[in-house]
Amino acid sequence: MKDIVFATNNAHKLRELREIAGDKFNILSLKDINCNEEIPETADTLEGNALIKANYIKNKYGYDCFADDTGLEIDVLGGEPGVFSARYAGEDCNSENNIDKVLKNLANEENRAARFVTIIALRIGDNTYTFEGEVRGEILTERQGKGGFGYDPIFKPIEADCSFAEMLPEEKNNISHRGRAVKKLFDYLRNIY
Ligand code: IMP
Repeated sequence: MKDIVFATNNAHKLRELREIAGDKFNILSLKDINCNEEIPETADTLEGNALIKANYIKNKYGYDCFADDTGLEIDVLGGEPGVFSARYAGEDCNSENNIDKVLKNLANEENRAARFVTIIALRIGDNTYTFEGEVRGEILTERQGKGGFGYDPIFKPIEADCSFAEMLPEEKNNISHRGRAVKKLFDYLRNIY
């Protein structure tokens, strides 16, 4: 099995990803390589932040690595929260108050079109590559479902009749932004290994 680091400690993401990776790759988390520091995400684009994280791990720990950055982009808000999705509600942000802020900003708004987009940056040796996945959908008027994480309870993809939070993990993986980016990543990795 080929070792490769996924620069995250998010248990939801690791589970989603290991399901897609199959048994040719041993996916290591940041905890698995004893990286306990907060990696700075100071870029103003998703791609920039993903590259910072992947390069940081390769340069400091020597592992081939990939990192993702995801944004929820709402059409009528000009693409907000976008690269600020994790911190949308300000200093004491968490998934609950981030969702509350989205619902408040879209109150009485008919156009609720949005997309999730994930950029994955891969660093192998001295080379970097990026992969993008997106899913279009709409922001619901209230939370639906208890599964998933982040903005899942208020996002309904075009391809489904329910929110991401009402789907089984494998149903979400099949159509999600990250699932699509990860499939491109592993198509590439399977070709070179
Ligand atoms: P990150 O780049 O993965 O840290 O995600 C940025 C923000 O988007 C965080 O607030 C996450 O909770 C949220 N997010 C990322 N992926 C998903 C997803 O698959 N569903 C819902 N929210 C997500």
